[in-house]
Amino acid sequence: MKYIVQKFGGTSLNTAELREQVAAKIIHAVKEGYHPVVVVSAMGRGGESYSTDSLLSLAYEVSREIPGRESDLLMSCGEVISGVVLAATIRGKGFPAVFLTGSQAGIITDDNFNDARIRRVDPQIILEHSRLGKIVVVAGFQGVTEKGEITTLGRGGSDTTAAALGVALEAVCVDIYTDVEGIMTADPGIVNNARLLETITYNEICQLAHEGVKVIHPRSVEIAMQKNIPLRVRSTSSDAPGTLVTNDSQVYKGAIDITRDRIVTGITQKTGITQLKINMPETNASAWQVRIFKGLALAGISVDFINASPEAVVFTVKDEMAQKAVEILENLGMQPVKRPGCVKVAAIGAGMTGVPGVMAGIVDALTRENVAVLQSADSYTTIWVLVQQEDMVKAISALHQQFLD
Ligand code: ASP
Ligand code: MG
Repeated sequence: MKYIVQKFGGTSLNTAELREQVAAKIIHAVKEGYHPVVVVSAMGRGGESYSTDSLLSLAYEVSREIPGRESDLLMSCGEVISGVVLAATIRGKGFPAVFLTGSQAGIITDDNFNDARIRRVDPQIILEHSRLGKIVVVAGFQGVTEKGEITTLGRGGSDTTAAALGVALEAVCVDIYTDVEGIMTADPGIVNNARLLETITYNEICQLAHEGVKVIHPRSVEIAMQKNIPLRVRSTSSDAPGTLVTNDSQVYKGAIDITRDRIVTGITQKTGITQLKINMPETNASAWQVRIFKGLALAGISVDFINASPEAVVFTVKDEMAQKAVEILENLGMQPVKRPGCVKVAAIGAGMTGVPGVMAGIVDALTRENVAVLQSADSYTTIWVLVQQEDMVKAISALHQQFLD
């Protein structure tokens, strides 16, 4: 049997009109000969009636001290509501459909409430319904422990459910339907000629997600990647193919070699960053380094963009943690130099591995625009530069022009 997993996010489900569009996508898949297994998020976002945040705020208005197992029970209702309504919508179109909770669908997790990991998927019940010709609608973002406690998978976790089911069913594809057309080369609000990517590798999309691109949960990509299940990020309100996530160019007819053909795939940015610099004394730099990083760790402050040398220690923290970090360092007898309002810009591309001249291109582009690089770092697939907030648009546009126009 050819299974396809179709996941619909909250913004694709919050009006009757949108749910009609969703039902049409599902029925189209049936007509194409697939057995669709549909994963839903809770309807809407933020303060909308049945969204995850709205459900949580009902309890938080009473107390901030809700035990994890109970907030999971509460949150799990959001996906149940949207799943039942969607199954009814599908049946209204004359197609048999059944709704299953995460537990009924065999999603078994650990007992880390609010952020549980899927241990295994037992797809027996899904398969039974599907073999009878029913469209199976599954509540995303939730599972059950071996002892029967309901859990949730961390915010944005419906994508994770979809990928895990894709692997368990050996699906032809996992379609992540959302309110954008796919993955873009940069934020179109910043770069006018940002383009939609036809293909992207699992590693690249994971990097993009970790750098703050919010279209897909990185954990879901990691799960799909293990069994090479193709993912597609696409729009609920159009028929466009969206962005295909895979390592295998053969899967998608006509796709070009997705790594070798380009060096940089996307440019991202993370704002609200403070850089801290501490000059080291002439002797004993390593003892200072230990004191700095232990002091910050004990205070629960996460550091990033770390560069430690005998001359200086430089790193970044989130703007809101900067004051606390400065106080800790001053209590240690140090005089940190603080530079608030920085932006971490990343150029991401699997094709840059081992290619000479990528950093040269980055520095060239930024120099042309008079953008100062405050710090840089690199990995196999990413080069990061730290710039001042006022240079952000210039920096991203210059890098886009250099590598992606
Ligand atoms: N409804 C959950 C959330 O808002 C899960 C999801 O939408 O993926 O985080
Ligand atoms: Mg999401």
